[in-house]
Parts: sequence; C-alpha cells; structure tokens
Amino acid sequence: MIEFKNVSLTYPNGNRGLHQIHTRIEAGEFVVIVGLSGAGKSTFIRSINRMVMPTAGELIVDGENVVPLAGKRLRQLRTKVGMIFQQYNLVNRSTVMKNAIAGRLGHTGTLRSVLNLYKKQDRSLAYQSLLRLNIGDKVHARADELSGGEQQRVSIARVLTQEPMVMLADEPVASLDPPTSHQVMRDLKRINEEDGITTLINLHYMDLAMEYADRIIGMRDGEIVFDGPVESVTEAT
Ligand code: ADP
Ligand code: ADP
Repeated sequence: MIEFKNVSLTYPNGNRGLHQIHTRIEAGEFVVIVGLSGAGKSTFIRSINRMVMPTAGELIVDGENVVPLAGKRLRQLRTKVGMIFQQYNLVNRSTVMKNAIAGRLGHTGTLRSVLNLYKKQDRSLAYQSLLRLNIGDKVHARADELSGGEQQRVSIARVLTQEPMVMLADEPVASLDPPTSHQVMRDLKRINEEDGITTLINLHYMDLAMEYADRIIGMRDGEIVFDGPVESVTEAT
C-alpha cells in the first residue's frame, strides 16, 4: 500500500527531515510513529499526502510514485489519503455538519462545494460518520462551541466522510487530556478495524503507542531506528 524507497527530504534551509527511509506499510495496518520532537515524524507522515515533497527516492502510495505529483493528480492523492491534525483544523464558525461534509470536497469539486451543492448521499455519508464518532447530536453546533475531544472527533468524521484508503494523524492527541486521548485513540483503532483504513499516527507518548499500536516505528534524526510489532518493543529496550 505504502512503500518508502530510499526516501530523503532536506528542507530548503538545509535541515534534515528524512534520511534514506526504507519501509513498507501494508493495507489495513495500524502503525504508530514515535520519537522526540524534531525526529522527523511529521515529515514522514506529511510526505505520504505530499504536504511536503521528498528531495530523493520514491514514495509509492497505492501503486503510484507520489513524489512528482502535481495539480489534479495531487488532489486525487489527497482524496485517497485523509489527514488529522493536532489542532483539528476545523472551520470554527461553521457547523459540525458543514465541517464533516467538507470531507467530500475532493469528490465534489471546489465550485460545487462553495455553492453548497453537495449531493444527498454526501450529506447522508457525513451524518453517518458523525454518528459513528458519537457526535450526531451536535450536527447544528458551531465547531468552536465544542470541547477539544469533540472537535477531534468531528475532524475524524470529516476524514471518514472522505472514504479514504489511508488515514494520517499528526499528533492527534497532543492537545487533549489523558482520558480524552484514550477515547480518540480507541476511535481511531475501531475505525481501522471496522473499515480496514490503513492508519499512521504520530505520537510522542510511548504508553499510548504501546497500548494501541500493532506496529511501532521509532524515529531519530530523520531515520528509522526501530520498526516492529508492539510485543518486540520491551525486548528491544
Ligand atoms: P517531528 O514531527 O518528529 O517533531 P519534524 O518532521 O517536524 O519532526 O522535523 C524534522 C526536522 O525537520 C526538524 O529538525 C525540524 O526542525 C525540521 N523541519 C520541519 N519542518 C521544517 C520546515 N518547514 N523548514 C525547515 N525545517 C523543518
Ligand atoms: P510538529 O512538531 O508538529 O512538526 P512544529 O511546531 O515542529 O510542529 O512545526 C510547526 C510548523 O513549523 C510546521 O509547519 C513545520 O513544517 C514548521 N517548522 C518546524 N521546524 C521548522 C524550522 N526549523 N524552520 C522552519 N519551519 C519549521
């Protein structure tokens, strides 16, 4: 599903984002990436939907090297690969429903979405996603009236509405308290199990990684320094 072939990424100022990354992620895997701040976790994840562009190597997603993609092909990639952020990235003044249906943007096109011309099926899909995240009772609330945990659930619902093959989450619980963090991790895991969406999550808490991951990738200085199933972590450390 996803294959890094000798991928490096050097930022324009010379910072090393990734250095010669070689790894494969199979369809349906639930992978957590851990490492200190600056280790390259964000760069690794953001390469997959091409928010950042590798400077060497090939990165295969769903059979296609995404490194050179631009324009329409890049938009198609981002429709296949959903993204969740630490700060939720919702439109604060919009309703929960409008935020969730925005997941259809890649399918519907910008002009139709600006004119609010979503299809009935799009609305129904958005509502189903909100129900699955237990936030169906808040459809008419404004996003900024919700708690942090609720906002993150709306952002997960937006990705579900998108019907992606891959879901990326960049520090999805870093702004949440521990009980809410567990709730969000349980939601992500449940969706991975129910829908088989390949899931990659950056975390800087090892305990959460150990509790939920099937596979853990450890990064340092832009390199993978550990890669294995959770059971092998205690043996290795
Ligand atoms: P992490 O997500 O593990 O905190 P990052 O991928 O954000 O790590 O960063 C990896 C390295 O790349 C760090 O040295 C960071 O300072 C650098 N970096 C990240 N984004 C940029 C950028 N836009 N420009 C320059 N350097 C960057
Ligand atoms: P994270 O740890 O989640 O990657 P950061 O706070 O490191 O977040 O980065 C926030 C933003 O700043 C990102 O867009 C990242 O690309 C950019 N950034 C990070 N490090 C640098 C850097 N050394 N120079 C320029 N931009 C950076």
